[in-house]
Amino acid sequence: MSAPDLRRGACPTLLDPMATGDGLLARLVPASGRFRPSELAGLAEAAGRRGNGVVEVTARGSFQIRGLDPSSAEALAADVASLGIVPRTGVPVETGPLAGLDPTETADGSALARSIAESVSRAGLAARLGPKVSVVIDGGGAVPLESTLADIRLDAAGGGLWRLALAGTRATATPLEEMSAREAEARTFALLGIIAGLGRRARGRDLLTGAEQPPRRAEQGDVPPLPVGPIALRPGESACRLVLPFGEVAASTLAAVANEATALGIREIRLSPGHGLLLIGDAALAERSRALGRRLGFVADPGDPRLRVSACAGAPACASAHLDTKHLAGELAAAMEPGAETIHLSGCSKRCAEPKAAVRVVGTSAGHFSTGGAEMPAAEAVPAILDALRTHAPSRRGHAA
Ligand code: SF4
Repeated sequence: MSAPDLRRGACPTLLDPMATGDGLLARLVPASGRFRPSELAGLAEAAGRRGNGVVEVTARGSFQIRGLDPSSAEALAADVASLGIVPRTGVPVETGPLAGLDPTETADGSALARSIAESVSRAGLAARLGPKVSVVIDGGGAVPLESTLADIRLDAAGGGLWRLALAGTRATATPLEEMSAREAEARTFALLGIIAGLGRRARGRDLLTGAEQPPRRAEQGDVPPLPVGPIALRPGESACRLVLPFGEVAASTLAAVANEATALGIREIRLSPGHGLLLIGDAALAERSRALGRRLGFVADPGDPRLRVSACAGAPACASAHLDTKHLAGELAAAMEPGAETIHLSGCSKRCAEPKAAVRVVGTSAGHFSTGGAEMPAAEAVPAILDALRTHAPSRRGHAA
């Protein structure tokens, strides 16, 4: 295992964890894109033994373990290997988690993703590209990757065509042209080669400089929320999407859901963008999976107020944080009125990956936060933020902090 990477812009993996406020953070995505429920139970139990007892699924749909040290991180990597879980390595070439299973998707991008990943691997491009360079192949459907940032995007355009775009989400990336899967594979590989030629700090956006730069797309607009609960798949099959409250649960809770999923007869569990899990099996299991999620404290219903509050890692997980964002998020969700608009909590002014939200709250110094331009002591946080939510004018949506 190499020394922990402290550089901003590094991407933590199982073998190269990153230092954070509460120790090392390791991140993993299974190369196969799925876990057998027993594998996920074993992973959660190992994470509970080795880390801080809490596990996370990120907005992008990666599994995260915090609170490691060099020796426990090494032990966790050994646990993962002994469970037979093979982590994805190299340049991430991501498809939607239901690619190939979802009858509503425009196209199944999984074969295209495999071909691109194999070409990149054969050419050894990963070693020449920065760790955050990614490719997203979004076939659409119930759980699309439209909000997932990518250096290179291929969005299904219908009729067997893929729309190539650079640097952004589906709404914000700069579109180039539509092409067949074969052309898309060749163009993506060529563009990755150009990015690699610009050095390890280069990103997809660096291909957009100069006179040939196409007009920039609009900013990210309102994106429909991802479904929560049962999702119909191919005849006789279903998925149930459960969301980890504010992106995290106790490792023991994740182990319990995976063990009970095994007993229910769930075939596989996939990680989902938006901090979720997809429990996949016979159609008859979808509502039983939802009931299991509700019982164990997951978000299992689209009206759950916890979906209205998002939070960055915050204190103590992040060394820069002035605010315990996850704790405050729980207090706010418990006190919110039904149908309230959205809140995002950032532990400090860096406001990492801050999404669009009606009210945005930022930790400013120990024991203080700001919202709507006013700074207050953290002891007043819940009533002050709920008040800001009540007085939020729709015309100011997304600009309240
Ligand atoms: S916004 Fe600040 S506190 Fe939150 S994760 Fe980023 S650096 Fe840490």
